[in-house]
Amino acid sequence: QRENEAIKSEGFSVAEQQFIEEQSEKFKFQAEVNKLMNIIINSLYSKKEIFLRELISNASDALDKIRFLALTNPSLLGEGDQANLDIRIMIDKVNKYIHIIDRGVGMTKDELVKNLGTIAQSGTKEFIKKVTESNDPKNSSNLIGQFGVGFYSLFLVADNVIVTSKSNEDDQYIWTSTSENEFSIVKDPKGNTLGRGTKISMHIKDDSLEFLNQDTIKSLVKKYSQFINFPISMYVSHQ
Ligand code: ADP
Ligand code: MG
Repeated sequence: QRENEAIKSEGFSVAEQQFIEEQSEKFKFQAEVNKLMNIIINSLYSKKEIFLRELISNASDALDKIRFLALTNPSLLGEGDQANLDIRIMIDKVNKYIHIIDRGVGMTKDELVKNLGTIAQSGTKEFIKKVTESNDPKNSSNLIGQFGVGFYSLFLVADNVIVTSKSNEDDQYIWTSTSENEFSIVKDPKGNTLGRGTKISMHIKDDSLEFLNQDTIKSLVKKYSQFINFPISMYVSHQ
């Protein structure tokens, strides 16, 4: 139900909403992802802000990847595209959303399923094993500091997430989840609106509304992302 509300607030028409309802494929998160999410929620509730660092670092990785691919295949970047390799943060106070948009490599449908549904890195698996074994919250936050927790940390501040992604290798797809063990994937009925890249749209929980404040976001970007090699800009929508 909450998922449907998020879809509505993303501005899909009634026909598009119907398409999404009919065509969505449901997937279960890998058991390790559920474990990691529980660890994140239980050990990082006082450090929610790290979600922004993780998402900006993912956006930056995606931009690095397309820039690297373009070294051997310059046609991957269109004219003027070099200048568009940036990261945009949009704050929508009315609907309580934060959107983070990059013009990086994007993800195909299969990559969305794999990258945002399983844990591939042996490092993260090792981390989950260590935290589960140690059972000491203090130690957990030390371990988290060492490993970085990644994408799923957004569930510290968001109860509903829509990831829209367009890779050169596939159509544009949308991934949605309310973190409750499963996620859905559907082809975007709007077609290719991103050109290329990824948009992470998060509906902010009532206990995290401070992140809708532009000064808060600005200072977090300064704190965590000063070594990011791409321009980061911020927009606030006043509807
Ligand atoms: P890590 O960054 O350590 O690989 P994350 O949990 O942060 O782990 O992200 C998981 C994977 O999801 C990434 O490795 C990447 O393949 C994919 N991903 C996440 N965000 C983006 C993005 N903005 N653009 C493209 N791929 C992404
Ligand atoms: Mg990451």
